[in-house]
Amino acid sequence: AFDVLIIGSGPAGASAAIYAARKGLRTGLVADRFGGQVMDTAGIENFISIKETEGPKLSAQLEAHVRSYDVEIISGQRAKELFPAARPGGLHGIALESGAILHSRTVILTTGAHWRQLGVPGEEQYRTKGVAYCPHCDGPFYKGKRVAVAGGGNSGVEAAIDLAGIVGHVTLLQRSSKLKADKVLQDKLRSLPNVTVLTEALTTRIEGDGSKVNGLTYRGGDGKDHRIDLEGVFVQIGLLPNTEWLRNTLALNDFGEIKVDDHGATSVPGVFAAGDATTTPYKQIVIAVGEGAKSALSAFDYLIRLPAE
Ligand code: FAD
Repeated sequence: AFDVLIIGSGPAGASAAIYAARKGLRTGLVADRFGGQVMDTAGIENFISIKETEGPKLSAQLEAHVRSYDVEIISGQRAKELFPAARPGGLHGIALESGAILHSRTVILTTGAHWRQLGVPGEEQYRTKGVAYCPHCDGPFYKGKRVAVAGGGNSGVEAAIDLAGIVGHVTLLQRSSKLKADKVLQDKLRSLPNVTVLTEALTTRIEGDGSKVNGLTYRGGDGKDHRIDLEGVFVQIGLLPNTEWLRNTLALNDFGEIKVDDHGATSVPGVFAAGDATTTPYKQIVIAVGEGAKSALSAFDYLIRLPAE
């Protein structure tokens, strides 16, 4: 059995694995894809101390760093069920989709999240070429340009306010007749001179010249198609944590995020979590890496407090 078994090999999982191995713990890592969302990222300019890099490059560096330690990597595998230990200090079980069951004294869940997509033509083709999901990450790439934000909930309106301070012009599109964001955010948004708010505007297509985005088409309340010329589209219709498989095992919030305390402990003793899959706010690489380290140190603390067998 492992001392620490980490599920998910994005930045949070990689960091947890390195911290656990450095404590001399018997560490396992269930890795379906090293780098996680970082693999889907083009330019990264906010991972502190690395001025700029690219997703696949940073992912390869994360993997090489983990492989330089004594970590047992269970590659190409996904977890499908967690069986919590029957007694404190007992072994937890993790069932893999392959049918195998792994056992460990502590588990760290770092299964991350994925952005809900519009599912319209052009979205996939122009991903990272004008279609973006993270204003903190990609906003500065659109300095002075025209962008749209699809989604009128809190995250869409926050993104539009954020982007309005950087880009030339923002068009916010909401498919129903009203924005769903908190009133204070809506008031702030409507006070900004370079923002247009469109309701009853259903994004139907993202257009480009083959290499980058140059426009967006939406179906208006009049039932007609309208085109907006722009350089970027931020899709803000929800970040979905990869936690479906944990639904009946530990406490999640209404968004499906794993509830963690300030040590990364979940509602199940000996099971910790870190990164985008958790309730920790602001989903960023630098935060996932920090939280991953914290969860491994918390697992270590938990293990040294277990009664000697
Ligand atoms: P993830 O990166 O999501 O990794 C989780 C891993 O777990 C994945 O490999 C997943 O496949 C795996 N997994 C899921 N379920 C299971 C399972 N059941 N069993 C086993 N494995 C499983 N952040 C920045 O700081 N700067 C940026 O510039 C930036 N740009 C971004 C651009 C894009 C397009 C996207 C999508 C995100 C961007 N982010 C950026 C956000 C950043 O990538 C995430 O905050 C970060 O990757 C979260 O790390 P994580 O380890 O928590 O989760």
